[in-house]
Amino acid sequence: MNTQPVHIASQEVVNRRAVTDSPPVVAALILLFAMCVSLIFAVSVIPRPGQPWSPFTVANIHDATAAAKPLPIDTVGWPPAREYLELYLLGRREYEVAFAPPGRPITHSARVNLYGWPMGCLIEVDRWGPDGDPERHTSPPSRTPLNVRWIGLFVDTLTFAAPIGLVFLTPLLLRKLVRAWRRRRGLCPVCCYPVGASSVCTECGSPVRNKLGLQGSGA
Ligand SMILES: [Zn+2]
Repeated sequence: MNTQPVHIASQEVVNRRAVTDSPPVVAALILLFAMCVSLIFAVSVIPRPGQPWSPFTVANIHDATAAAKPLPIDTVGWPPAREYLELYLLGRREYEVAFAPPGRPITHSARVNLYGWPMGCLIEVDRWGPDGDPERHTSPPSRTPLNVRWIGLFVDTLTFAAPIGLVFLTPLLLRKLVRAWRRRRGLCPVCCYPVGASSVCTECGSPVRNKLGLQGSGA
């Protein structure tokens, strides 16, 4: 409980500093910023109609190895994958997968586009299914609109947030640790000058916890 009179203006400065000095607040702001960056990047790699694309082939596999590949979409009730093609370039990933019951022709296929880096936080799906299947319509494909892929958004956000956090949060945490260490040793947390009876540092004017345990509130 602060019982000391303070000037309104200096209290506002202290409050503002308290917000920008608070690691959880800074971490939350960094995460929010990183999420925006992830989404903006994902939107930027969505192809415009007719835009040429020369991706790398990540995988082009068949039969048992294709069936064992995990897919970013739900294919419950579909036969196993028989052909699996995965393409990638600069934050855009495309899967073209065909499904067939063992020993029979292909009955279903899907094309999935993921946008974003590294995992992809926006997803677009085209599905083709056999005639008469009420769940999976026949051609033309049933196309889902662009959706947020939450696991991708989570991973992409953390990936962008990590370096930003390292740059902005590390000095903040180090300063907190150093100041806590100085406080424990009876020194001013800001300038390291020994604390006496005053609740304000006599060297630099910073609020300090004096020898009686009274916390100063700022000069
Ligand atoms: Zn000081």
